[in-house]
Amino acid sequence: MDHDDVLTMIPGPTPVHPAILDALARPTVSHQAPSFVEAYRRCLDRLRQVARAEHGHPFVVAGAGTLAMEMALVNLVGRGEDLLVVSHGYFGDRWIEIAEAFGVRARVLRAEWGRAVSPDALGAALEGNEPAAVAMTHVDTSTGTAAPVAAYCDRLRGRRALAILDGVCATAGIDERFDDWGLDVLLTGAQKALGAPPGVAILLASERALAKREALGVVRAYFADLRRWRRVMDDPGLYFSTPAVNEVRALDAALGLVLDEGLGARFRRHERIAAAMRAGLAEIGLEIFTAPECRAATLTVVLHAEGIDDARLRAEVAARGVVVAGALGPLAGRGFRIGHMGNIGLPEVLRTIEAIASALSACGRATDGNRACAAAEAAFGE
Ligand code: PMP
Repeated sequence: MDHDDVLTMIPGPTPVHPAILDALARPTVSHQAPSFVEAYRRCLDRLRQVARAEHGHPFVVAGAGTLAMEMALVNLVGRGEDLLVVSHGYFGDRWIEIAEAFGVRARVLRAEWGRAVSPDALGAALEGNEPAAVAMTHVDTSTGTAAPVAAYCDRLRGRRALAILDGVCATAGIDERFDDWGLDVLLTGAQKALGAPPGVAILLASERALAKREALGVVRAYFADLRRWRRVMDDPGLYFSTPAVNEVRALDAALGLVLDEGLGARFRRHERIAAAMRAGLAEIGLEIFTAPECRAATLTVVLHAEGIDDARLRAEVAARGVVVAGALGPLAGRGFRIGHMGNIGLPEVLRTIEAIASALSACGRATDGNRACAAAEAAFGE
């Protein structure tokens, strides 16, 4: 089946709302056209509102989440300095690889997959051995773990170490408070809870982060150098490298939808969607991998029932018009991942549950999709 016709319930990219697609499809104009410069400026301003970053400097450049991770590291941590990584899985571990690529020493505080590193463990790791920066992942998309970021930030308060947060699988789906938490970098991607198409790297930097960039002098980056981009972000009519005109306008439209919905209402909707999805899966008899106390509202990592073949099950789900994602790392083959973030609602949840129930029946595990959907609807509430 052509994926164009299916409901994409993977942990990013997520389904793109028609209003955002309309913005994407408008004729491409000069990156210096007044209408585009205005949209770029508005997009950056909206980003600060969504991240609650009155004091944050926003950056939106062509790329993806990994480029934003690289930009954070290369601009904030010098060669030979230390990075402390708080890792909850595959994407937390990516920080170690990026650090290695730039000659930065990485120390890792790692949780067992599906559990969260305790704030006390972070506090202890900082005592007497303070790194230049701490890299945290709000939601690790491999394990479905939402980290207690506010509590981590409390442990970092007043310290020298810069606080870097990967919000790729969280921003605009789960509360994030750049100023209140004292973050130095919040980075994210367009294609997840923001509900925009992929194509841009998004980052907010504190004054302290930009001062560190200046203090480093020459960094091992050209395109990824925040100093080169800063004047463009202050005045989006200036040129450094051609912005992704259509994607920026799409992101602006996506951020407009987020703010129209209201942040509180949007976070609550994500919680209700997660509750509905999990109630339906429980009724089907499927187990959730992530420990209950740290399950993210943006995705669910599901374990396969005994004897179910991973590739077959996901192919049967796709044949019913819904795409879910395979599991990563040590979970590969043992389970699958359902993204439920961005601009989706109960109908998409029900369609997904129906498809999984019917696919399981096709795999020889008789399942009542109607009952599972009723359980989901009840959990979603009024
Ligand atoms: N961090 C997290 C938590 C992610 O989920 C992802 C992508 N799945 C990334 C970073 C990397 O983002 P991208 O694929 O856009 O480079």
